[in-house]
Amino acid sequence: MEKHKDLQNLEYTIDGMTCTSCAMRVEKVLNNTEGIQKANVNFASEKVVLSLNPSIINGKIIESKIKEMGYFLREEKAEDEGEVSADDNSFSRAQKRLILSASLSGLIMALMMVHMFLRMIPFYLPIIAVLGFPIIFGTGIHVHKATINAIRNKSLNMDVLVTLGSLPPYLIGLAGLKYEIQTFIEMATTIMTLHLIGKFLEIRAKGKASSAIKKLIQMGAKTANLEVAGIEKEIAVKDLQIGDLMLIRPGEKVPTDGVVVEGKSLIDESMVSGESMPVKKNPGDIVVGATINGEGFLKVKVTKVGKNTFLAQVIKLVEECQGTKVPIQEFADKITGYFVPAIIILTVLTFISFNVFSEFHLSILEWGARFLPWVRTDFSPLTLAFVTSTAVLVIACPCALGLGTPTAIMVGSGIGAEKGILIRSGEAVQTLKEVSCIAFDKTGTVTEGKPAITDIIVTGVLKERDLLYYAASLENASEHPLARSIVGEAKKKEIAISPIKEFRSFSGKGVEGILEEDKIVLGNRKLMDTNEVDYKGYEETIIQLENEAKTAMMLSINGILVGILAVSDPIKQYSDQTMKELEKMGIKTAMITGDNKRTAEAIAKKLGITHVISGVLPEGKYQEIKSLQDQYGMVAMVGDGINDAPALKQANIGIAIGTGTDIAIEASDVTLVSGDLVTLIKAIKLSKATFRKIKENYFWAWIYNAVAIPIAMLGLLHPMIGAAAMSLSSLNVVYNSLRLTKVNVEPDFLRTP
Ligand code: ADP
Ligand code: MG
Repeated sequence: MEKHKDLQNLEYTIDGMTCTSCAMRVEKVLNNTEGIQKANVNFASEKVVLSLNPSIINGKIIESKIKEMGYFLREEKAEDEGEVSADDNSFSRAQKRLILSASLSGLIMALMMVHMFLRMIPFYLPIIAVLGFPIIFGTGIHVHKATINAIRNKSLNMDVLVTLGSLPPYLIGLAGLKYEIQTFIEMATTIMTLHLIGKFLEIRAKGKASSAIKKLIQMGAKTANLEVAGIEKEIAVKDLQIGDLMLIRPGEKVPTDGVVVEGKSLIDESMVSGESMPVKKNPGDIVVGATINGEGFLKVKVTKVGKNTFLAQVIKLVEECQGTKVPIQEFADKITGYFVPAIIILTVLTFISFNVFSEFHLSILEWGARFLPWVRTDFSPLTLAFVTSTAVLVIACPCALGLGTPTAIMVGSGIGAEKGILIRSGEAVQTLKEVSCIAFDKTGTVTEGKPAITDIIVTGVLKERDLLYYAASLENASEHPLARSIVGEAKKKEIAISPIKEFRSFSGKGVEGILEEDKIVLGNRKLMDTNEVDYKGYEETIIQLENEAKTAMMLSINGILVGILAVSDPIKQYSDQTMKELEKMGIKTAMITGDNKRTAEAIAKKLGITHVISGVLPEGKYQEIKSLQDQYGMVAMVGDGINDAPALKQANIGIAIGTGTDIAIEASDVTLVSGDLVTLIKAIKLSKATFRKIKENYFWAWIYNAVAIPIAMLGLLHPMIGAAAMSLSSLNVVYNSLRLTKVNVEPDFLRTP
């Protein structure tokens, strides 16, 4: 999750990878290439994400490296159609192969039935040899090509198994034209056809799993209505430029990100934030592309286009996440590399064993034949050895192992994007579910971040309005939520604001400046202490305000305390239920704030947070995260990312919570687009569910191989059954991941009974 300045991230799509071992091979070679710091290849999405040093390596070198291995690079066409049509291509190719080989296989099967049970068909063998030829050498030729490639690369994969399971039986079958031997042509063609069916279904299911990104891309508007010199004109969204004036009618999609210049409306932002309540928009407010306008008519000035729009960033983030690995995957990936060679060794051993210990094997087969109709005992030991070894080859399924994690991550991250949960990496999915403590920033995270003035106390000769005048003039230069509340209040009361000289802001303390020769300071005790302002007489008043969960700020002029301003920041809806739910999930909650102890504790009490860390300067927040880590282990930090980026980074997982659409995607591992804390519960539930799927997938893949391979080695499984089982095994994994879409991540307290 680290970021390096001189590294560049690139993403490509690779064509021609047929199995997880191909993906691993590509990854290994790229990782060993000079200039590439990290390569992640995802077989399920056919994507490679590279972090590279552009001064050492470029796209050309990468392309030739990949070509050398027998695959092709397809550079991502920025947004539109490119990707979709490429997917459709491989889909329709697989479909054509499937139709041809399935019809030929069906014909062969039918002939075989007639030949065996009804009447001898003259020239049966030559006929099926001819019918089978297009399957083995036509529709299946890409498998053999991939096999040759794999052998050349010394990275054996599933294609090798399918080639070994289909080519020799077919060739031996051809020999049957001349010699009196058992024919295996039917077996060879069926194995290949089943493999093609399996691949076809797998491509289809993978397409469904990766549809999230397609959906996001399609969410964007296609055209926009512009106002140019008073005349309305329709143009394509991709031709929009910053500064253009868009007209958005009721019910229309917002074409791109912008700021409202005229009009009022409610906008449905659920597609980007997951938040179902429409959001009020007035002049000056930001609108996001792809959201839907309500009843009002809006004039919006374009502020972001192309790659910089919110939607484009979300798409990029989801793609990046899908290209990363989950730590749990490492072990399986290691095994996958040895899987196929191990199967080939087992196959050879089986073949030898059937020839050497034929008596022993025959006794097992005789026992098996009693309840398994396909078990034959009337073949010669050599034939039995051959059939059994073929079964071992085709039943083994390394693909199920490799598909489990990427497909689950693809589906999970897609669901997340729909609900306004943006997860940066597979690692974040795993970490999020292991978190034992969550630390919250106070302002803007558990509170609305929109403090309102509650008390104005004058301590000297100044009037209330004058106090506000000084405070607002000073805070006008500050971006802090507290500052905005003071300025807002002054504007409401129509109090003028004067320019300030030598303005300085002390984060976590307050602000100071000079107004008409007078030095004005506004802030908390820390700031008053450094300025040697005496506030002893008002300590009681301040304490009382703080006990009421208010934040009190003192204003001094030339070192003399002149007044106290207190604000209260309302707690976000569902904050308290969220904390309770987290504790129920066994997660400790903590609050870290720069505000004083009493205010912090008063708020924490309302929320049910027991661990309160207050009076922390922004730089100190990451230290506090460290000590929480010592105490509880895995710690997540939730913040708005504005002044707590270092703390978000220090935490095992940094969660940025959006305030509107200004989201700090960069500093965080997870971004919750809406400011709603409930989304945090959803994010944890989603990551738990995704992780559970991954584990389930591994379980099924392992169990399948562990059970099926020994049975096949004993000769109790017919190769055709083996080929079918193998396809089912990898399909099972992909479909199991797809079932994740049904997961319910709503917290209990929002569930309607
Ligand atoms: P939080 O941790 O809640 O985000 P900060 O670290 O931003 O809080 O600020 C901590 C405290 O510093 C505030 O409660 C306030 O007392 C004081 N403070 C910070 N900025 C300002 C400001 N612009 N004006 C007045 N007081 C401020
Ligand atoms: Mg803050």
